[in-house]
Amino acid sequence: MSLLSIERLDVRHGLLQAVREVSFAIDQGETVALVGANGAGKSTLLRAIAGAHAPASGRIVFDGADVTSLRAYKRVARGIALVPEGRRLFGEMTVEENLQVAERVGRRGYWTMQTVMQLFPMLQARRDALTGNLSGGERQAVAIGRALMTNPRLILLDEVSLGLAPVVIEGLYRSLPQLLQGGATLVLVEQELSRALSVATRVMCMLEGRIVLDTPAASATREAIVDAYFGLHRGAEAKGAA
Ligand code: ATP
Repeated sequence: MSLLSIERLDVRHGLLQAVREVSFAIDQGETVALVGANGAGKSTLLRAIAGAHAPASGRIVFDGADVTSLRAYKRVARGIALVPEGRRLFGEMTVEENLQVAERVGRRGYWTMQTVMQLFPMLQARRDALTGNLSGGERQAVAIGRALMTNPRLILLDEVSLGLAPVVIEGLYRSLPQLLQGGATLVLVEQELSRALSVATRVMCMLEGRIVLDTPAASATREAIVDAYFGLHRGAEAKGAA
């Protein structure tokens, strides 16, 4: 049984249909890179999976249960954690308080205040700092730490490297294998293709609200991904499949 199954999902922003009849299934332990141009619908899809945005139609099945109309905090309790683009933190709360809030709504498991601090030692010294006063890298670490504190089975990472210094991004990517402790599953939205491919086991590309490419990372050529990204069909035509 798949961990996550998306069935003919439509998600709208008013009249705009941001996600169109999307269907796919993800097994436990996969690391999926979700790529696509700005506005392709990636964030909207992740937010719908996390319960932050209600779909217009379709189903979201997690661990065998239909969670389509479940409130976001109840999905967290079941093991779905979103690290949103823009890192929405409680800026007037300290690092420790941000992490504690997550602990209360989540599941029990490997990730605790202690193990998160071990993963991101930079946060140890900043424990009592207000998150509003942190650097971009520190804030991102808190955002990921907050998701981990819920001991998620499915982690949805939305452009975690956006706006960060290269050295911080490298550190984040080095920590990714540790995020997957205990068999967690990861969906990662990333603008930088080579970075996404360095960790992914599977690549999905969105274009104008649809999944136009879904392939194991090992057999994904850069050319095929770029074609899908821009809506070109060179590869498909070459194989007579257009
Ligand atoms: P980006 O990399 O720019 O975040 P994305 O692939 O994540 O792109 P979305 O942010 O999901 O794409 O946006 C999909 C479409 O929905 C776009 O046309 C965008 O303008 C629109 N959209 C996104 N958020 C909203 C919103 N809050 N209100 C109205 N339209 C929105």
